[in-house]
Amino acid sequence: MTVLGPLPAARLAATDAHEHLFLRTPAQPDDDMQDLERALAEVREGAETGIRAMVELTPIGLGRRPDLLRAVSQATGVHVVAATGYHRDAHYPADHWVHAASVEMLTERIVTDLTHGMHPADWDDPALPLDTARAGVIKAGASYEKVTDSERRRFLAAAEASRLTGARVVVHTEAGTYGPEIVRLLLDAGVTPERLTLAHMDRNPDSALHGEICSAGVSLVYDTPGRLKYGPDGERVELIAAMVERGHLDHLMLGLDLGRRAYVRAYGGSPGLRHLLANFVPRLRERIGDEAVDRILVGNPARTFSLAPVAESVA
Ligand SMILES: [Zn+2]
Repeated sequence: MTVLGPLPAARLAATDAHEHLFLRTPAQPDDDMQDLERALAEVREGAETGIRAMVELTPIGLGRRPDLLRAVSQATGVHVVAATGYHRDAHYPADHWVHAASVEMLTERIVTDLTHGMHPADWDDPALPLDTARAGVIKAGASYEKVTDSERRRFLAAAEASRLTGARVVVHTEAGTYGPEIVRLLLDAGVTPERLTLAHMDRNPDSALHGEICSAGVSLVYDTPGRLKYGPDGERVELIAAMVERGHLDHLMLGLDLGRRAYVRAYGGSPGLRHLLANFVPRLRERIGDEAVDRILVGNPARTFSLAPVAESVA
C-alpha cells in the first residue's frame, strides 16, 4: 500500500526500507523536516542512484505529512509506503494524548490510518477529514533496554492492528537493544513473526543474536550505513555477510533512516539518500554478490511489505 494507492508487490523494485522525509519531534528540537522542496531534491538525488521505493517510517505524533508524501511520490515517481503506529516515549511530551489513550483508541487510530486514510495532523484534532493516502506499515518504538508501560500499550495496539489488517509491524529498537524481549512481547500479543521487523539492530552488530531473532521468522532492517559515528560501513558489510552465511539472507533489508537534518544533503547534511546505492551497495555487491544484494533490496521488501490476508474475525 503506497501513498498513491495499492501497488503490485512485484513493482516495488529497489527499496530503502527505513526512511524519513518529514519529521518533527520534541526529542530533536531545531531539527524539523517539513520542507517539500528539500524532500523533493533529496528523493530526486536518491532516484538518480536507482532508489525506486521507500518506506517512510515516521509514526503518529512526529509530524507526518501524508499530503507532502503524495506530492513527492507524484513528482519523482518513487513509490512511498507511509507509516502509522507510535514511537518510543522520548518522542512525546509528558502531556501528549498517547500516554493517556486506551489500547482501544490507540488501535482504532492505527486501523483508520491503514484502512480509510491517514489523519492529516497526527490525530491531534480527530475532527479533521482524513487524507487520501493510506498508511501501509505500523511502527512501534521501545526505549533503551526496556519497554515502558506507556510503550507497552502502544505495542499492544500495534499488535492488534496488525492482526486486524495484515499490516507489518516495524519496531524501533533503541541502539539495537532488547530485541528478543520485543519479539516475545509482540508474538505473545498476536503478531505473526512473518509480519514483524526490527530496525536498528545493526547498532548492536551481533550476528549470533540476530540469527536467533531471524530463526523465529522475524526480519531485520539494517539502517545505519553512512553513519560513521556508529561504526564504519565495512563492519556493516561484514555483518551482512555473516548473516548470509548463517542462512538469513531472506530476513534482511536495508535503509538509511535519515531522521535528522544533519543526515540529509538537501538540509546541508550527509551522507544523504544517495549513499545507499551509490556507495554502500557497490561494496556489498563485491562482498556477497549481485543475486544476494538484489534479494535484500528488491525481493525481501516486496514480500515483507505485502499486506497479508486479513484475520478471519474481521468482516
Ligand atoms: Zn527512523
